[in-house]
Amino acid sequence: MTWQAKARELDAADPLRAYADRFRVPGPELRYLDEASLGRPPADTADALARFVDREWAGRLVQGWDSWLDHPQRLGDRLGAGMLGAAPGQVVYSDSVTVNLYKLAMAALRHSGRRAMITDDRNFATDRYVAQGIEALGQADLRPVEAHPDKGVDLNSLGSLLDEEVAVVVLSLVDYRSGALLDMARANELAHEAGALVLWDLSHATGAVPIALDATGADLAVGCSYKYLCGGPGAPAFLYVRKDLHPVLRQPIWGWFGQRDQFGMGPAYDPVPGIERFLCGTPSILALAAVEPSLDLLLEAGIDRVRAKSLLLTEFVIDLVAAYAPYLRLASPRDAEGRGAHVTFEHPEARAIAAGLAQHNVLVDYLGPNRIRLAPGALSTSFEQIWEAVRHFPPSTQIRG
Ligand SMILES: *Cc1c(COP(=O)(O)O)cnc(C)c1O
Repeated sequence: MTWQAKARELDAADPLRAYADRFRVPGPELRYLDEASLGRPPADTADALARFVDREWAGRLVQGWDSWLDHPQRLGDRLGAGMLGAAPGQVVYSDSVTVNLYKLAMAALRHSGRRAMITDDRNFATDRYVAQGIEALGQADLRPVEAHPDKGVDLNSLGSLLDEEVAVVVLSLVDYRSGALLDMARANELAHEAGALVLWDLSHATGAVPIALDATGADLAVGCSYKYLCGGPGAPAFLYVRKDLHPVLRQPIWGWFGQRDQFGMGPAYDPVPGIERFLCGTPSILALAAVEPSLDLLLEAGIDRVRAKSLLLTEFVIDLVAAYAPYLRLASPRDAEGRGAHVTFEHPEARAIAAGLAQHNVLVDYLGPNRIRLAPGALSTSFEQIWEAVRHFPPSTQIRG
């Protein structure tokens, strides 16, 4: 059987294949394998935004705030229930991932009275910079844990760094580079044995893999909604704080959206008891209007079905790359259960390969200096599209190194 026939066979058996039509795919079709950087827009998003501008913004003007005020928490609860394994009242959309990391890391440090903060030396840049900034303010001592470029953080190495000085451990559930998926339950357990909290970055995991924050005893989490959640460029991020931590954690940015009697405009900051104490200033209600249609789609499809298809998609990518571009080295865990929804390959000519693919309308992500990341969206990508993309990799005869 040819690879194209195999792709068609997989498409015919795909229970989610009809979802591709519910995304907006204008013009001559791009073969898109970079959902890990920016998800495609659902077809309903444009109408949802136009409706919001018309009925809500123009139609209600300032009176709209009567209902808009609870959008960050209402949508947070839906995301929490469907994607994060979080009971209501613990998730809220707010700010960017970067700002939420800062707020929750600072809250954890101040609460514990401890000074050490662990994060891995290969974590996403913004996670490392936020940690460095907190250290530069004199609020923490950083303890880096070494991560393997292809396999991510080894929990035994993490365990050996944990002691009674550690306040918080910042980990990405899915590594942005290799796709390595950590064992959330085990990492929480290790940190808790040392009396530390874990702050999870779920940016590459949300909408890609099932997450069980409550069931694994997670403490804190942040995540991004413009990748697999398809909320649009710069879509509002979200944060999770376990309920019993609300009364004891205070975040450092004291703003009126965290205030108990917000419109009383009283003299002193007195945060609400619930999850909204982790808000700062006015959220973008317009941007949240774009978050909802994609959440509707993902919740309807269900994260378990999304994960099942995603595992088949990345296995197919690996098989096709082995056939069409055998010079690429797999730089992700080989075991499908050990990775998220993307796979990464290494080659010294990675940059030229990615640029060459773009000439054929194939978009992959180049991760300098020598990797390319392939991230097919489970709802928007067919197996045949993946074949269409991978067959444009240059043949071995054109590759140096
Ligand atoms: C995409 C991503 C971010 C993005 O942070 P922003 O503040 O939204 O720019 C943060 N952390 C990780 C791990 C990411 O993958």
